[in-house]
Amino acid sequence: LLPASLFTALAVTPIIVRFRSFRGQHLKELLRTLRNKEFYPVFQPIVDGHSKQVLGHELLARWQHPKWGAIPPDHFIPILAHHGQLDRLLLELVSQCQNRPQQHQYLSINLSGEQLTDNNRNLGEFLRELCLQLGLDTHRVIIEITERDELDFQSPGFQSNLNDIRQCGFKVAIDDFGTGHNGLTGLRQFQPDFLKVDKGFIQMIRHRDETQPVLDSIFRLAQQLGITVIAEGVETEEQRQYLLSRDVVHMQGYLFGKPHRRPAQRLDRLPG
Ligand code: C2E
Ligand code: CA
Ligand code: CA
Ligand code: CA
Repeated sequence: LLPASLFTALAVTPIIVRFRSFRGQHLKELLRTLRNKEFYPVFQPIVDGHSKQVLGHELLARWQHPKWGAIPPDHFIPILAHHGQLDRLLLELVSQCQNRPQQHQYLSINLSGEQLTDNNRNLGEFLRELCLQLGLDTHRVIIEITERDELDFQSPGFQSNLNDIRQCGFKVAIDDFGTGHNGLTGLRQFQPDFLKVDKGFIQMIRHRDETQPVLDSIFRLAQQLGITVIAEGVETEEQRQYLLSRDVVHMQGYLFGKPHRRPAQRLDRLPG
């Protein structure tokens, strides 16, 4: 029997190779794709790791290509970003949210660097429209801003968009914390409501290695600044216990639920 990872590599490689040649093609193909509803939303629960209640969901994009099958977001998001099509993608995802999350839950939305620095539209207004469609209050919606894009938090474009978002009442999260270069300075300048600590860090918990003091100081700093930590990529009971011992309660990961077509009302699989 093939090891699972090798099997995945073999299965995925031809898609990626074919997909690379797609990169050279035009916007037309992408627009066709957007029209054909090949993109659709999935929802991954964010839970209270203690009570196991569902607190909200992260909206994630999926692309099921008719010939190439499932294309991971890490491959198509950068291309859509390059063509300035991420707002359209988001509109498309939201238009398909028939099973919208419940009123009392959060919905977390990812915005890429391009969307956050683009000043050709009023970002706050754009997002408010989305909330209307979803029937959600703006204060129930978290805008996730990833550290990976190495955003310049000082740039005027970004600052004005961030102000718009805040004035509309949206919550703001720094995503993939620990992977970028803004780090602690970002935390101070930005004062996000939430800090999503990258799954890379959370998954090292099992190694009991030297990253734990680093993690612990991130948690302490966030707590001192009044920022709620969300631990992403929680896969094991050991990780859950460790996080709870550090007063980190908001968790997301396969231990609680993978991304699904429908938002979870409650957890199907209870850990522990
Ligand atoms: P992200 O925002 O960090 O999203 C979390 C990723 O981790 C998701 O991958 C999710 O499926 C995966 N994940 C969740 N729990 C676990 C776990 O316990 N273990 C492991 N190993 N992985 C877990 P996904 O869906 O492949 O998305 C990849 C990235 O693509 C996202 O990373 C996000 O940056 C980007 N992305 C996805 N949808 C959108 C979108 O609609 N707009 C934008 N701008 N970016 C998106
Ligand atoms: Ca995210
Ligand atoms: Ca993340
Ligand atoms: Ca990530």
